[in-house]
Amino acid sequence: MNEALSVPCPYCGESLVIEPEPSDAPIEYVEDCHVCCRPIVFTVSYSEDGSEVGARREDE
Ligand SMILES: [Zn+2]
Repeated sequence: MNEALSVPCPYCGESLVIEPEPSDAPIEYVEDCHVCCRPIVFTVSYSEDGSEVGARREDE
């Protein structure tokens, strides 16, 4: 079951909902913001307390 996570876009601040594939290892992937079309680096990690998601600019 995928858990939907919400994270603000690091460029425009729009709240984005992502549904990452569950994994034992931290995930990092790039996806364009659907609002401002700039590349966002998402980092997703899982723990027993729940998932954590981060978003940063690709050029940082
Ligand atoms: Zn954006």
